[in-house]
Amino acid sequence: MSLVDINGLHKRFGDMHVLKGIDLSVKEGEVTAIVGRSGSGKSTLLRTINGLESFDSGTLEVDGERLSAGRTDLRQLRLKVGMVFQQFNLYPHLTAGKNVMLSPTVVKKTDKREAEAIARDMMAKVGLADRFDYYPDQLSGGQQQRVAIARSLAMSPKVLLCDEITSALDPELVNEVLAVVRKLAEDGMTLIMVTHEMRFAREVGDQLVFMHQGRIHEQGNPRSLFDAPSTPEFANFIGAVS
Ligand code: ADP
Ligand code: MG
Repeated sequence: MSLVDINGLHKRFGDMHVLKGIDLSVKEGEVTAIVGRSGSGKSTLLRTINGLESFDSGTLEVDGERLSAGRTDLRQLRLKVGMVFQQFNLYPHLTAGKNVMLSPTVVKKTDKREAEAIARDMMAKVGLADRFDYYPDQLSGGQQQRVAIARSLAMSPKVLLCDEITSALDPELVNEVLAVVRKLAEDGMTLIMVTHEMRFAREVGDQLVFMHQGRIHEQGNPRSLFDAPSTPEFANFIGAVS
């Protein structure tokens, strides 16, 4: 049984055909790493899965919630899908803990005390139990991104989408964020992540997807694909000698 099932999905921005028939299945508890050059449609695909973008044809199903092109009732989908972006976008006037409490309180109407308990749990999960009352500008970039992950987890998503979540970080802060993602994967979280961290994709990914010009150009076991790319485009991308 797939948790996420995408069939024949097409997406255009005006004349530009950005997703050209995407078929993708993700099983519960599986980590899918999406790689590819800038402009190949990776972010658009994630945004579509999260209901941030509409699509022109095909179907998208997440945990039994099935969407066809043109449907506008996205509430159920958005409750099932969490997303973390390159930019952390924390509210600067709220503490880390309050940032994490916000969505449960506002979107799910969870009462304050329960929301705080959830937020403390999630802050602990990302290794920041002792930073609950800190403001974003008192935290490093890596810590802020971990708060952003905790904020997504506080909504208990069925699947977490990560779009280049370490790309805006100084190199020495990348590993602490990847360590949190690795832990989530080990705990059984279903993850779909766009990443430039090839080693991480290889080690943690159950499935690798290489996107090229709006299509899934190669797909399969990360280790097999990295060791033996079957297309010149993927070989070029990973810098292999083909
Ligand atoms: P990637 O994440 O792989 O770099 P994107 O999904 O961001 O690729 O973009 C794929 C293509 O769609 C690019 O050509 C980009 O310019 C275009 N695109 C993305 N978002 C929009 C938008 N909101 N309006 C018009 N074109 C867009
Ligand atoms: Mg992108």
